[in-house]
Amino acid sequence: MAGVIRRLDETVVNRIAAGEVIQRPANAVKEMIENCLDAKSTSIQVTVKDGGLKLLQIQDNGTGIRKEDMEIVCERFTTSKLQTFEDLSAISTYGFRGEALASISHVAHVTITTKTADAKCAYRANYSDGKLKGPPKPCAGNQGTQILVEDLFYNVSTRRKALKSPSDEYSRIVEVVSRYAIHNSGKSFSVKKQGETVADVRTLPNASVVDNIRGVFGNAVSRELIEVGCEDLKLAYKMKGYISNANYSVKKCLLILFINHRLVESSALKKAIETVYAAYLPKNTHPFLYLSLEIAPQNVDVNVHPTKHEVHFLHEDSVIESIQKHIESKLLGSNSSRTYFTQTLLPGLSVSGGSEVKSSGATAESGERVYAHQMVRTDCRAQKLDAFLQPKEKPPPDPEPAGPGSREATTKIVEPHDVEMDETDDADLLQALDEEEAEVPKDDKESSVSTHDVQRKRPRKEEQQQQEKEEEDQTAADTFKRRVIKLNSIKDLRTEITDNTHKGLQEMLQNHSFVGCVNPQWTLIQHHTKLYLLNTSKLSQELFNQILIYDFGNFGVLRLSTPAPIYELAMLALDSEESGWTEEDGPKEGLAQYIVDFLKKKAEMLEDYFSMEIDQEGNLVGLPLLLDKYTPIMEGLPMFILRLATEVNWDSEKECFRDFCKECSMFYSIRKQYILEAEPGEEQDAELNSWRWKVEHVIFKAFRTLFSPPKHLSEDGTVLQIANLPDLYKVFERC
Ligand code: ADP
Ligand code: MG
Repeated sequence: MAGVIRRLDETVVNRIAAGEVIQRPANAVKEMIENCLDAKSTSIQVTVKDGGLKLLQIQDNGTGIRKEDMEIVCERFTTSKLQTFEDLSAISTYGFRGEALASISHVAHVTITTKTADAKCAYRANYSDGKLKGPPKPCAGNQGTQILVEDLFYNVSTRRKALKSPSDEYSRIVEVVSRYAIHNSGKSFSVKKQGETVADVRTLPNASVVDNIRGVFGNAVSRELIEVGCEDLKLAYKMKGYISNANYSVKKCLLILFINHRLVESSALKKAIETVYAAYLPKNTHPFLYLSLEIAPQNVDVNVHPTKHEVHFLHEDSVIESIQKHIESKLLGSNSSRTYFTQTLLPGLSVSGGSEVKSSGATAESGERVYAHQMVRTDCRAQKLDAFLQPKEKPPPDPEPAGPGSREATTKIVEPHDVEMDETDDADLLQALDEEEAEVPKDDKESSVSTHDVQRKRPRKEEQQQQEKEEEDQTAADTFKRRVIKLNSIKDLRTEITDNTHKGLQEMLQNHSFVGCVNPQWTLIQHHTKLYLLNTSKLSQELFNQILIYDFGNFGVLRLSTPAPIYELAMLALDSEESGWTEEDGPKEGLAQYIVDFLKKKAEMLEDYFSMEIDQEGNLVGLPLLLDKYTPIMEGLPMFILRLATEVNWDSEKECFRDFCKECSMFYSIRKQYILEAEPGEEQDAELNSWRWKVEHVIFKAFRTLFSPPKHLSEDGTVLQIANLPDLYKVFERC
């Protein structure tokens, strides 16, 4: 018996159609993000529960929806973006079909809260099956739109069952958000699970594309990127983006492709690119690429089915070939730079160098063949130079604080948070600990040393993110309060540092691979395919100088377990040749006493601003904690004390701070004397390890995040590019 043909109920038709447009939560997120961007939003926040099946919320700060339009936004084919069919060929917004919201509302409960700039308040309305369920209700709200999608596919059980685990759906959502975030650098995005305070992906409004790639995919890829860009007027296309160089490869090719700002896929383009890389990468490994392609709108078939991410465009083969050629030339350029070594002062890093990633080596003689044995190791997880020098050993998790370099010095440094409990027989130490604890609520400055975390300091891009996260977390009781410094002198000094930053050098230090310490003064690092010799003393001095200026008034304390008499320190200094003392300067004793009295007068200020503590008796009891797990070597202490009295201009506020920071940073910097730490005998390795460990894990770690290298360092021999890398390796391997 033939079945009776009946017209389907309209809502059923709509539901089926909707299921085709929105196949999974990530599709809905993509459509809604595009709507946010169409509405000129600069901040888009996505919150998800149960992989988006229970709840999806997208909040933006865009233009909002007018109250009178709220009634129809969820009906099919309503759009504010397209009026005639001809418009289709010149469309510049993402959406144009008016299908997304309608579809979503057929398979979920939708609530829209929105406010335009001119509206007096926000309005909220609920939708179901494309229709408004009741008149929009006025409510409070900021400008922008929040779309809440609940119980997705509640009425399409087959679809619901077809979806894999919520965690799988969630990762697809994170993937979509992060890709749009990378493509839309300059706008901030975040995506998180409901109830979590920390976002899984979060980008900042002032971050660059590379920052965002680093945030999402990590350092390993972000430091191996080459900037690409080309256009062809005849083919009417423009392309730009970042691609991984020959040093980087992954198991699966990752091509993030945007065409006319829509996230799409093109297997033809992907295949073509893979063939280019095949010549450069190890077998069965693949590149990372982010490409943004703009094609004359009339040449792209935008009217593809919404779920069809695969696109085609006019002159596809020619465009692909042209892109292929460009990528090939870029790869070749960066590859030939492997053989391009001369002993020069930083040729690649021009002083003005502001670009984040160099499109490296394009000018170097290309075509020079590089053999495997000449290749340079770039994976930071790979062995470091130390491996060739001594038996491989884990660095001490808590290195002994540097002992006094000159054995006469009576000081011993206690790092309260680093104290190991098996040392409890040390009464001094216990006392120091007690003091430290008792001191915590003393005043509003950071007195608990353990909170003095490197991460908290400077509002660099990454730290900002970190800081924001922390600010969110600050609802918790134990908030750490940073003293705000209002002194103009300090503000000036900070500005001087920022204005004088060498961007190229900064980028290099942020993304370097640590190779090894040659000696306390010199360190080898690798950046891209080049090897550099860095003057650790000069760089660390500059680092400490900057920390002193940035953390002014906010230091933790390194408490000396035995107070050090300033008088004796001054005498020690005057006895040394370095002081340049002569008979004409008068008796040393008198000078030493003068220094004691003088510094005692400055004690209050020194303690308040620099956590440098001097007691009533004229003993030094505390020094500023500048970096976690770092103590200066005490050999420099006498000269530091002497120079405080002789080299600091105490009369002018700004000069005084500048001079103090200079002297103090000199004292803290890594210096030749560190080698003296190594006593012959068994302890040698541990001691050696200790300064090596500090250089690598404290100093160079801080260079990655806390440092704005001044321009002169690129010209004064502090940073040297080394010649002929493969040969150098041979030399070290023989050791
Ligand atoms: P389309 O984007 O194709 O126009 P949609 O169904 O995605 O269709 O959206 C319908 C309409 O709803 C849009 O044209 C726009 O006017 C409005 N709209 C949707 N989301 C937003 C938003 N986040 N901000 C402002 N307006 C929005
Ligand atoms: Mg849309």
